[in-house]
Amino acid sequence: MAGTLRAQLLQWVRVRQALLGPRCFWEEPARVESGSGAIPDPGHASQQQRAQAPSVAVPNPPALSEELPLPVLEPPRFRMPVVQPSGLFAQLPPWQQSQTLEELYEHIHTCTACPLGLTRTNFVFGTGNPQAEIVVIGEAPGAEEDARGEPFVGAAGQLLTRMLAAIGLQREEVYICNILKCRPPGNRRPLPQEVATCRPYLWKQLELIQPAFLLVLGATAASALLEREHKIAELRGRPIPLQGMLMVVTYHPAALLRNPQWKRPAWEDLQLLRQLYDAYRARRASHPA
Ligand code: SF4
Repeated sequence: MAGTLRAQLLQWVRVRQALLGPRCFWEEPARVESGSGAIPDPGHASQQQRAQAPSVAVPNPPALSEELPLPVLEPPRFRMPVVQPSGLFAQLPPWQQSQTLEELYEHIHTCTACPLGLTRTNFVFGTGNPQAEIVVIGEAPGAEEDARGEPFVGAAGQLLTRMLAAIGLQREEVYICNILKCRPPGNRRPLPQEVATCRPYLWKQLELIQPAFLLVLGATAASALLEREHKIAELRGRPIPLQGMLMVVTYHPAALLRNPQWKRPAWEDLQLLRQLYDAYRARRASHPA
């Protein structure tokens, strides 16, 4: 009996996928991380929405042209701006001389250079592939990340996992971190001084990883990287060169949980990243180092 039910269920899933394609993150039900519970579910897409639904298959890369902006093909492509020590014989601080992510972590995980170091539960360094070609950058740890010492582990983190999967990427393939390593109390927006104090640690992480692409989640993180205030509408939907790397900006998953109508444009941003990444890999394969 159970076997028959299972076979029927599998058959239904196959029929659904044949008709609609596998379910992508952008058509999932809306959820909120905490508070008043689920908001009404616009994720049950209408027939018209389904007709417009993009396939989750990885799109074909765009035609390679000289105009296509791509990252520098081979590392080293990024060097962190040196934070000059003061004094005639002053040395670079030890963390700046780190040769590996582990070494960097050892130097900075007890940091109290800004007041957030005194209120955090855990320092949230980053996780993933130390040689990733794509680094995902968010704003700052939230409550769950602060409790566990890992980035993007709450509901927003689960959505990020599905967003990456929608373009054929596993979390383990990329590196995931934030601009700030410590949680701002109450998840408030990071203060400019906190960003300025913590940002060099991110530069050093990027120097050690040497990614080709940055997937930047939210205007706050993107503004911190560009060192200038921007609105998300000014940044998303196009690749932005950044010191040998290429940056694609989209909505923060926490914002997508609150505003499911933004999932569709976020899906377009992710497709853009995938297209650029495929084009970059194709060009690198045709220009071996
Ligand atoms: S947020 Fe950054 S600068 Fe501030 S204490 Fe934490 S690690 Fe140090």
